[in-house]
Amino acid sequence: MTAFCRLSRVLAKSEEGRLFFECPDCDMIHGISHGPGPEPRWGWNGDAEKPTFTPSVLVWYRWTDGDRGCHSFVTDGRIQFLGDCTHELAGQTVDLPEWEDDA
Ligand SMILES: [Zn+2]
Repeated sequence: MTAFCRLSRVLAKSEEGRLFFECPDCDMIHGISHGPGPEPRWGWNGDAEKPTFTPSVLVWYRWTDGDRGCHSFVTDGRIQFLGDCTHELAGQTVDLPEWEDDA
C-alpha cells in the first residue's frame, strides 16, 4: 500500500516521489514519475496547483466492462482527454478534480 501525501489542491505524491492526480473520467488515480530514475519519466513544470506533465499520460487497464483506455494531456491544471480514450470525456478538457485523501 502506497502512502500518499497531499501536495496541493489537485496533486499528491507518494514516498517514491511519484505524482498522482484524480482522473474524473476513470474515477481513479493516475500517477507519473518525474526526475531521475528508471524510465518512463515525465516532465513536470514544478507547479503543484497548475501542473503540466509532458508527454501525455496513457493508461490501459481491465475493468468489469472490458479493457479501458485513458489518454490525456495534463496542462496548466487541466486535463485534456484525447480521442482514443474509451470513456465519456474523450475529446474534452476539464479541470483536474480536487484531491481527496481517502481516494
Ligand atoms: Zn483516466
